[in-house]
Amino acid sequence: MATIEIDKVSKVYHGNVPAVSEVDIKITDGEFIVLVGPSGCGKSTLLRMVAGLENISSGTVRIGGRIVNDVEPADRDIAMVFQNYALYPHMTVRENLAYGLKNRRTPKPEIEARVAEAARMLELGPYLDRKPRALSGGQRQRVAMGRAIVRHPSAFLFDEPLSNLDAKLRVSMRGEIKRLQRRVGTTSLYVTHDQLEAMTLADRLVVLNGGRIEQIGRPLDVYHAP
Ligand code: ADP
Ligand code: ADP
Repeated sequence: MATIEIDKVSKVYHGNVPAVSEVDIKITDGEFIVLVGPSGCGKSTLLRMVAGLENISSGTVRIGGRIVNDVEPADRDIAMVFQNYALYPHMTVRENLAYGLKNRRTPKPEIEARVAEAARMLELGPYLDRKPRALSGGQRQRVAMGRAIVRHPSAFLFDEPLSNLDAKLRVSMRGEIKRLQRRVGTTSLYVTHDQLEAMTLADRLVVLNGGRIEQIGRPLDVYHAP
């Protein structure tokens, strides 16, 4: 596990008003932080800077004490889960789960053990030999989470992972993420525009508005604030 330190981080897309302004968040080991706020408030830009996928205009992000942009992408010990699943369509579920580990030259028995562990946690056992097109939306999203889990990363970054699912499935997947969070306890930064999702999952909530932190605190304190 690792801390994530976001220190006076700003982003200006050329010539525009800042998308993110001087954001400070210290995420402690094992903490689950949810970023909420209206569309365009900078959630996704901030998450992408933490992931090292977007240049930071000023400020620094450290994960486990190391400055994100100083670490080669392949050596970054973080895993991302997106709303569009990003599964390889020509590979089976098992191959999708194993792919990132194979790339990192993880020994085969270790890959098999981690795939089996993720399949157990996410109840994907019966689907391991299917291709993504033969899965439901919820099952695909579980595979996407499985791909992150098998890495045993020191931090998870979630970008609206449930927003493509229907309402009923969102509720059940929310419960599933909550259970995983209790079990795995990995430091997480989670972006959503769904208040209930935020309330259910967050140890602390960060409300962004116009690229700045408007509120930060425990869910009940934030949503019951005057
Ligand atoms: P959110 O995820 O909260 O919806 P974003 O981080 O996507 O917000 O966007 C924050 C602001 O930055 C918005 O004003 C958006 O239009 C702008 N923005 C996002 N990406 C780009 C880009 N690649 N180029 C220019 N402006 C961008
Ligand atoms: P990692 O182990 O870091 O997830 P991958 O090689 O699995 O590395 O993926 C590299 C990048 O490509 C990731 O950002 C992933 O989300 C994206 N990606 C994975 N599958 C697809 C796909 N089918 N189409 C487009 N992008 C994908």
